[in-house]
Amino acid sequence: MMYDRILVRYGEISTKGRNRNKFIDRLRKNIKRALSNYPNVAIKAERDRMFILLNGEDSDGIGEKLKEIFGIQSFSPALKVEKDLDKMKDAALELFRKIHKPGQTFKITAKRSDKTFELDTNGINSEFGGHILRNVDDLKVDVRNPDINLQIEIRKEAAYISAETIKGAGGLPAASAGKGMLMLSGGIDSPVAGYLSMKRGLEVEGVHFFSPPFTSERAKQKVIDLSEKLAEVNGHFALHIVPFTEIQQAIHKQIPENYTMTTTRRIMLRITDAIREKQGGLAIITGESLGQVASQTLESMYAINEVTSTPIIRPLITMDKLQIMDIAQDIDTHDISIRPYEDCCTVFVPSSPKTKPKLDKVQNFESFFDFEELVQKAVEGTERMVLKPASERKDDSMDDLF
Ligand code: ATP
Ligand code: MG
Repeated sequence: MMYDRILVRYGEISTKGRNRNKFIDRLRKNIKRALSNYPNVAIKAERDRMFILLNGEDSDGIGEKLKEIFGIQSFSPALKVEKDLDKMKDAALELFRKIHKPGQTFKITAKRSDKTFELDTNGINSEFGGHILRNVDDLKVDVRNPDINLQIEIRKEAAYISAETIKGAGGLPAASAGKGMLMLSGGIDSPVAGYLSMKRGLEVEGVHFFSPPFTSERAKQKVIDLSEKLAEVNGHFALHIVPFTEIQQAIHKQIPENYTMTTTRRIMLRITDAIREKQGGLAIITGESLGQVASQTLESMYAINEVTSTPIIRPLITMDKLQIMDIAQDIDTHDISIRPYEDCCTVFVPSSPKTKPKLDKVQNFESFFDFEELVQKAVEGTERMVLKPASERKDDSMDDLF
């Protein structure tokens, strides 16, 4: 007899008032999808926590999966036992023996929501602590910093015994907070921005600007590979590829060189906004970090942002590059991002872009040419593809997702 279930704690989700059921249901579906390789598990969602009933499946393997799911604060493999003191003591001892290594210290933490139970929390602590000390050699109690914290929880329906609390990924359940369009380059920053937005519950779709033949198929493949990584969170990731060559050429013909970057960004934002509207999104996400490059000074952002009033989410705005790179390593996008293929913006980058562009100037430069027609054409020519995680590419069953 080892664990028969995993107790999942929601954390922040539990403060969400009326939306709570929606959040819990989303989390349940996300867990179910992530555990699709464990066909025997059953998920029981309650108001304040969730139980994953193992039905013989491997609790360690499932634990590894749970660590990556947003909306889980922590979880504990546990054993359900009938509220009979002798049975509970036997079960606690058996579980303890399985996990205890010689020389380790322990304590008991009792929790009792069923006030009719024969022992109070102090009574449970001493009864179970004494039982374990009598039956396990070479064991000491350490109430401050124990190696094993054996938790005994008495609830109305039964008692639960667990010995570990494992930290979850936190955040809010993926795809529970509405949709945003991620401007996804092949660089290090934007995939991280996408990941952090998903962690906060956003459903994210990617928009990539592609300028063949100036940017190669391999640059596009890089963005597809990044999208497949981002698809790990939700099981799928939609990517829009915008044909951008004609617009970039027009910009270079029409706009003074030191303002081409500002106009390029403004038009990218207009196109992303149009795609967002078509897809029913409510926000745009970028990988911008304040002051990192010429397009990311406050003056640049002010001049670029003027083309839309849609909320722009910039998860990395105050982060240093090293911090961003650490996250990229953690989420496994870093090595794809550093592949050396040119992005559309680097190909056309002016030798000295304005770091403090003036809004009235850029408006004036753009007024001599009708970019709107080209914007519409690019939106219409955009290709949408839905990527699946590399790890699941053969699995076509997404029925439960929607
Ligand atoms: P990244 O590492 O994400 O490429 P960066 O530091 O290289 O960012 P920029 O090239 O200035 O910064 O781009 C700023 C943001 O603009 C990017 O994070 C991304 O959101 C968006 N962006 C840049 N190039 C493209 C592109 N080709 N397609 C879509 N979005 C882009
Ligand atoms: Mg870039």
